[in-house]
Amino acid sequence: MQTLLKKITPQSLKEAKEILLSGGAVAFPTETVYGLGADARSDDAVEQIFRIKGRPSDNPLIVHVHSDYDLSVLVKNVKPYVQALREAFLPGPLTLVYESRGTVSPKVSCGLETLAVRVPSHAGAQELLRYVDMPIAAPSANISKHVSPVTAEHVYADLAGKVPLILDGGQCSGGIESTVCDVTGDIPVVLRSGLISQEMIESVVGCCETYTLRAGEAARSPGMKYKHYSPRCRTKLFPSEALADAENCFREIVESGETCYILCENAVCERFPSDRVLDLGKNEFEMAANLYDLLRRGEREADVIVAIEPAKKDGVMAGVLNRLRKACAE
Ligand code: AMP
Ligand code: MG
Repeated sequence: MQTLLKKITPQSLKEAKEILLSGGAVAFPTETVYGLGADARSDDAVEQIFRIKGRPSDNPLIVHVHSDYDLSVLVKNVKPYVQALREAFLPGPLTLVYESRGTVSPKVSCGLETLAVRVPSHAGAQELLRYVDMPIAAPSANISKHVSPVTAEHVYADLAGKVPLILDGGQCSGGIESTVCDVTGDIPVVLRSGLISQEMIESVVGCCETYTLRAGEAARSPGMKYKHYSPRCRTKLFPSEALADAENCFREIVESGETCYILCENAVCERFPSDRVLDLGKNEFEMAANLYDLLRRGEREADVIVAIEPAKKDGVMAGVLNRLRKACAE
């Protein structure tokens, strides 16, 4: 299959709509990462997404809709506090998990009774979703377990020959996947951290918990149990306090003749040779926006990435750290 990479124009939107209506898949930009979309109402269209990505068949997908879409078509028994969340954060990088009305294919949620719904704020994503006016199931547009794509070129590197069309909207501004928050209970529960932090949700609703998977328990968000976001080179991760250990590790790898890059926050960059540094940036938003692009650059150019955790841990950094730790997990 030939894969076309096109800027978002009335013509490319028309082509995207034709592909989606005929059951095909289209990659498109959002404010978090690039998504691989298909008609959420069609079993075959949804199944193809799992096939293209090599995604485990028990890891449910998020449905994307435009900001005027009637959500009551998709979900039911919505808790009263959800309205305040929608007003505060939508459209934007917050996915809410509701009781499903069963209007989309059961393959979207892998048989769960719930449905994850997101309203992206990215202008191009909104344009596409409004133009097709249907629920689009879309995970990140990468091969499963690889680093998520934040440019159309990243999507092309993973999916060329597997999808007919990639809509190019430039680099994603957010850089990490949406916050996933379960709103089926009396208190919102963050299942996956992201650009909307637990603290931000708390400030609107008054309370919010973060779910942690306990040993022996079935995951409430099945995606949590999989290896994720991994570059194709070796990685080593050091806590922020272990800077000296990271420096030793870097030196040993260089002395062995391998190419080693250091991935770290801006504040510690100057301790390493500048042509070997992948600079995450100065604050949590810069670090979120830069992380996946730097991991992909690292895997292209280095044998090993030595990563050092940034000092800050809370707020949006919780999401960045979660991705960084999974990317570097054994
Ligand atoms: P991705 O599409 O790769 O961004 O991953 C979507 C994330 O949302 C995964 O971590 C899924 O486990 C999670 N998710 C999707 N649907 C549901 C659902 N119905 N209940 C809980 N988690 C969900
Ligand atoms: Mg993904």
